[in-house]
Amino acid sequence: MTENDNEAVDGAAEIRWASRVPKRKIQQLYETDAKGIYDEDLIDDVGFGLLARCESFITAVEAHRGRAACPRCKTVIPHNWQKAARLLCEGCGWETTWGAYLETIRHKQLSGAEPVIAAMEEYMRGFGAARSPREKMILIDRLIHSHHWADEGPTRPVAVNLIAGRMGDVVEFLDRLSYGEASTPGIREMREEWRRNINAAAERWGDERLKRPTSRE
Ligand SMILES: [Zn+2]
Repeated sequence: MTENDNEAVDGAAEIRWASRVPKRKIQQLYETDAKGIYDEDLIDDVGFGLLARCESFITAVEAHRGRAACPRCKTVIPHNWQKAARLLCEGCGWETTWGAYLETIRHKQLSGAEPVIAAMEEYMRGFGAARSPREKMILIDRLIHSHHWADEGPTRPVAVNLIAGRMGDVVEFLDRLSYGEASTPGIREMREEWRRNINAAAERWGDERLKRPTSRE
């Protein structure tokens, strides 16, 4: 390894991706919501956690598309997917290789396409502008119950990209969240729609374990 290679590795070490939100926070959010309580600190904690995660997701997807962002100054560095190619930031001089940059993204559930990007952008705009805790709760609920889509219909649940855990765990977890008479109006219907989408995907994948019975408590 030459000295320059070492510098390149150091550059990649500055790249940070926001973590997925822990299940317990989401669980707490739905438990309080089911009691008709809006805990604004908790809503903001979860909401901003998801916001940071969406930002990371979109930045990573953009990097995959050939436009890597400098972790120091956010300047976009175009690249041609050659792993050995040097990414050099014109803004601040930060550098790494595309291979090292890519390595920071892999296995972190940071890839997807439209319309997931659109759903995340809508969430980010909406959450930034939302004033009431109820509005924020609905935005969070809609985001974590959205899906990746293919021509055939819904595929992976977006929750896998946003909430810590493997797909089966996250699906099971969302399916069992607390709801009650006092829950925010509309969120129970959202879960039913989500179950139908999960079932459509599970049907196509031939994955019986993933299927959720609908219209039940
Ligand atoms: Zn820079």
